Amino acid sequence: MNFDNSYARLPEEFHAAVEPGAVAAPSMLAWNHTLAAKLGLDSLAEDERELIQIFSGSVRPSGVQPIAMAYAGHQFGHFSPQLGDGRAALLGEIITDTGNRYDVQLKGSGRTPYSRGGDGKSWLGPVVREYILSEAMHHLGIPTTRALAAIATGETVYRESALPGAVFTRVASSHMRVGTFEYFAGRGNVDALKTLADYAIDRHCPEAKDDQMPYVSFFRYVAERQAELIARWMSVGFIHGVMNTDNSTISGETIDYGPAAYMDEFRFDKVFSSIDRNGRYAYANQAPIAQWNLARLADTLILLGAAKSELETVLAEFPARYERLYLALMRPKLGLQEASDSDAELIDAWLNHLQDKELDYTLSFRKLATRIDAVDASHFGEFELRWRKRIGEQKIESTEILALMNSVNPLFIPRNHRVEQAIQKAVAGDLTIFEDLNTVLARPFVEQPKFAHYAEAPEPIERVTRTFCGT
Ligand code: AMP
Ligand code: MG
Repeated sequence: MNFDNSYARLPEEFHAAVEPGAVAAPSMLAWNHTLAAKLGLDSLAEDERELIQIFSGSVRPSGVQPIAMAYAGHQFGHFSPQLGDGRAALLGEIITDTGNRYDVQLKGSGRTPYSRGGDGKSWLGPVVREYILSEAMHHLGIPTTRALAAIATGETVYRESALPGAVFTRVASSHMRVGTFEYFAGRGNVDALKTLADYAIDRHCPEAKDDQMPYVSFFRYVAERQAELIARWMSVGFIHGVMNTDNSTISGETIDYGPAAYMDEFRFDKVFSSIDRNGRYAYANQAPIAQWNLARLADTLILLGAAKSELETVLAEFPARYERLYLALMRPKLGLQEASDSDAELIDAWLNHLQDKELDYTLSFRKLATRIDAVDASHFGEFELRWRKRIGEQKIESTEILALMNSVNPLFIPRNHRVEQAIQKAVAGDLTIFEDLNTVLARPFVEQPKFAHYAEAPEPIERVTRTFCGT
């Protein structure tokens, strides 16, 4: 393995050394061959025993210098000056043949200096969950951290009950968060903040260095990535659940699949997370919250002398930027090829119909695609008639519109009730559903008759209404 450790070379206040220990009886739950090949790690797979040793944290390959990263964060609006990786160890960075740098991090590998009261461990549930959800996100074409490996430790982790332990390997284009900037800003450590910002620019947007106002350009870079990310989440009905600033990346990748979920029946104010009592991170709040998080990043960049008015301009542009990206994603979902002023209203009418009738978000788009030339009574009420008229005005073959819609509307999403089943079975030693889901979700837009049941919405009694944090 060809690891570099550029983050570990940053000053000592950026991280703490950690030493993941051996685990009792590690065994492989999943290994992501495709991702491993992309990272140049495919040759490792020839020795599964070694893989298991490395990605359970039991063996440290040469050149690896595990660290926990320091960060702070606004959690549900309140500032926590000291968080950091309490259950994660960054092994280092891999530079691919194409010159891209990726962090490789173990999650659940034991205590770190930032663990506070926690045990630094993870049980199998959140590991299976993050594996399925993050890979599904990737295959939906949405920026995300990825899943390289899941290893059962053979140890017991104590939560409300005794549960089997596991370690997850996460790959990210970096793990810098808005909260990483807040960590140094909160301590008034402007030197370190500058080092961090320059490192982030080097790693993610080196072109900003030559700009007149590099930190404003950097801020615009992050704002653009976040606008696109949230627009994409919204288009697939994804609810992150804990959009705290420590779970908000600089790279614009989705990170930390704690109580995250894809919606079944549509609701604007849908919340799953058991800890989100006031609906701060509800589905329809995600863009305003991303903007709020960006404002927290801007607060730190001001300390580096970035012009407040310039940062404010970028921030003020966020809603319009987001809206443009959102509409561009929603139009083809409704079979609309050309933009019209009435699109936003048409999309809203559709969503209101889904909400009023408690219809499944994902499947309704696939169903709508079959209604283009329908002659029987309207399936989707007033909306459908209005929509057919608009579709008719496009003068495009129905088959072409159908193909367009089916190419952007997934048939398969990680249904909460299936993810729960995958976890329950995995705890009992049966990985079938976990593996099936990974297979089916790798091609979310394609009909897969053998797996048709994974496309189905839950029966009312199967509906999952609450999800819980990874801890
Ligand atoms: P999260 O809910 O994943 O965003 O985590 C919030 C904070 O709690 C981060 O600082 C984590 O590292 C920390 N944390 C979560 N679970 C554990 C655990 N089992 N042991 C120690 N720290 C944890
Ligand atoms: Mg987190």
